[in-house]
Amino acid sequence: MRLLVVEDERDLAEIIAKGLTEEGYAVDIAHDGEDGLYMAQNYPLDVIVLDIMLPKMSGIEILKALRKEGNTTPVLLLTAMDTLSNKIEGLDVGADDYLTKPFEFGELLARIRALLRRESDAKEAVIQIADLTIDTRSHEVKRGEISISLSAREYLLLECLAYNKDTVMSRTAIVEHIYNEDFDMDSNVIDVYINYLRNKIDKGFDKKLIHTVRGSGYILKEGGESK
Ligand code: CA
Repeated sequence: MRLLVVEDERDLAEIIAKGLTEEGYAVDIAHDGEDGLYMAQNYPLDVIVLDIMLPKMSGIEILKALRKEGNTTPVLLLTAMDTLSNKIEGLDVGADDYLTKPFEFGELLARIRALLRRESDAKEAVIQIADLTIDTRSHEVKRGEISISLSAREYLLLECLAYNKDTVMSRTAIVEHIYNEDFDMDSNVIDVYINYLRNKIDKGFDKKLIHTVRGSGYILKEGGESK
């Protein structure tokens, strides 16, 4: 899960990002409206936490631009102004939720979880590929009746491949889904994690599901050549 925090108060942005990172989310931060819009348009995000009063471009303008181009990423608006007209304007232009400053971090987290739950309800809750089942709510992974225990990072990688099953995922695309922008793109960490995942998902099973596509990346699918 990758989140974007657009907030010009740097201390607040840091606190929010730190808290969310500790919860296991990949978090990007933008400190002004232009950067925020750029990141929202170009990163695969699951939720955007968007302040309204921002330099260069307001949160409302960003939200309008995103919705106009068909971007449906859930947006949680933050504002210091608890006025009805403000709230109505935000919801009118397509905000999914609203939080007035100052707020408790626990409240923010609960709202974000609710938005993520709504998103995952819209997606398949259980992904099935051959005898592999992935429950995206409980994070339970099985091959047939055999439970497979994965680390948080391995699970994210598997879920990313599974949501994109039958599609070749480049290392860059995988990185964009499971890490934030601070990630070192030269690292071979994706290959390392693919190997971990193969040892758990495919090793000892006749049917291999994780396939390398030479020069392109990886694909999760039933059948086809492996390695
Ligand atoms: Ca602000």
